[in-house]
Amino acid sequence: MTSAASDPTFHRLLATHPNLHYDNKQGLMMDGTALAPLAEHYGTPSWVISADTLRQRAHNMQAAFKERGLSMGYHFAVKAQDHQACLSVLAQCGFGADVVSGGELKRALTAGMKARHIVFSGIGKTDDELTYAIQQNIGQINIESIEELTRINHLAETLQQRVRVAFRVNPDIDAQTHSKITTGRAEDKFGIAYNLIPALYRRTQQEMKGVELVGLAVHLGSQMLAEAPFRKGYERIAELVKTLRADGLSVTDIDCGGGLGIAYRGEDAPPPALWAKVIAETLGGLDVHLHIEPGRWLAAPAGVLLARVINVKEAARRFVIIDAGMNDLVRPAMYDSWHGILPLHAPPTDTLEERVDVVGPICESSDIFARQRTLPPLKKGDLIALLDAGAYGTVMSSTYNSRPFAAQIMISNGQEAVIRKRQTLDELLAQDVVPSWLARP
Ligand SMILES: *Cc1c(COP(=O)(O)O)cnc(C)c1O
Repeated sequence: MTSAASDPTFHRLLATHPNLHYDNKQGLMMDGTALAPLAEHYGTPSWVISADTLRQRAHNMQAAFKERGLSMGYHFAVKAQDHQACLSVLAQCGFGADVVSGGELKRALTAGMKARHIVFSGIGKTDDELTYAIQQNIGQINIESIEELTRINHLAETLQQRVRVAFRVNPDIDAQTHSKITTGRAEDKFGIAYNLIPALYRRTQQEMKGVELVGLAVHLGSQMLAEAPFRKGYERIAELVKTLRADGLSVTDIDCGGGLGIAYRGEDAPPPALWAKVIAETLGGLDVHLHIEPGRWLAAPAGVLLARVINVKEAARRFVIIDAGMNDLVRPAMYDSWHGILPLHAPPTDTLEERVDVVGPICESSDIFARQRTLPPLKKGDLIALLDAGAYGTVMSSTYNSRPFAAQIMISNGQEAVIRKRQTLDELLAQDVVPSWLARP
C-alpha cells in the first residue's frame, strides 16, 4: 500500500496543499494560523478545520460550474464532515446538503440549510426518518429500491403530502477507486438496476400519488481521480433520460452525486473544472436542473489532525508512536489510505530524513498511519499534522480503547475557537448505566 517509492517529496506535498506553508519562526501554518500553538494550548490529539479553506473550495467549485454556464444545485455530503459550524459556513456559500440519515437531516436543518436544498440518499432509510423528511418538506428523496419507493409513497399518502423523489440509478460502472468506496457496480448495494428504470418510472409517474418523480440520481463512488468513469456514468444517465422522454415521461432533475477525489499523495487530482466539463458535455444539453453532492473534495483539505509523539520505539523497524489512533482517524486502517504527515516545528528538508512507521497506541495491528514513510527525525514530544483529515475523519471517530473524542478547533480569518470540546474521561464513563439490580463488588 505505501511503498515509499511513490511517496511525494515534501516540496510536492506542500505544492498540492496551498493552504499550508512553513513560517521560519512559527512553523507549519494553515491559512495564516500557526498550528503548533494550537496543539500546545488545546492539547493533542486535536482536529483543526479551516473555514477559510472550506469557503474557498466551495467558491472554486461553484466558479468552475458557472464558467461552463451551468446553474447547479449544490448539496454538501454531510457524511464527510457533519459539524454544524462547517455546515453553516457552507450554507452561507449557497450549499444545501446531501444527507443519509435522520440525524444528518436534523443537523443540516439546525445549521441553517434550507429544507428545499436538502437531498436524502441512502439504502436503509427507516419509516421514522422518511416521515421526518416528508414532514420537513425536503427538496428530494433519492430512492434506492422498489420496496423503498412503495414505502415512501404509502407514507406520503398517509401524511397527505406529496414528496419529490428521484431514482438512484445503478449504472453498473466501476469507479476505479478503492473497492470499499465504489458504489455504482451491479454487485454494489446501491441504486436501482438500470434496466428496471423505464417501466418503474412510467408506473410511478402514472400511478403513485404520494410521490412526484422528478428525475434520476447517480453516485459512482468516492475519491475518483479518473475522468472516464464519470463520463461513462453520466452518458448512461443521458441515454436513460432520452429513453424516458421518448416514452413521453417527464425528467426535470438530474443529481450527479459526488466523488471527486483529492491529491492526498501528491497525485494530479482532477480540478472541479474537469468535473464541470464532463457534466456539461454529457448532461448540459438536456434542459434539466442539475445537482451535485460533493463531500471529500470540499472538506478533506480543510482539516488536519494534530498529534504528539509519545515515544520512538527501536525494533525491527523504527516506530514513531503518536497519541492519535485509529479511533480518531480510521481511514488508514479501513481503506489503506495515505495521509501526508508534516512536522509542526521545522520544515522538512527532503535530505535529513529517515524511514519510519508512524503508529497509534491502539491494540490493533491495523492502527498504522504510515509504513516506511520518509520523515525528518522525530523524537518524544514532537508535534505532527496528519493532512487532509477534514473529511471522513471526525465523523468516523470512536472511543475504542476508552479513548475520549478529541477536541475540534475551527480557524477563520486569524480567529480560532473550540467547536467541540475534548471529551473527558468522566464524560465518557458517565455514558454507562450499571443496573441497580447488579451486585456491586
Ligand atoms: C458519500 C456520498 C457522496 C459524497 O462523496 P464524496 O466522495 O465525499 O464527494 C455523495 N452522494 C452520495 C449518495 C454519497 O453516498
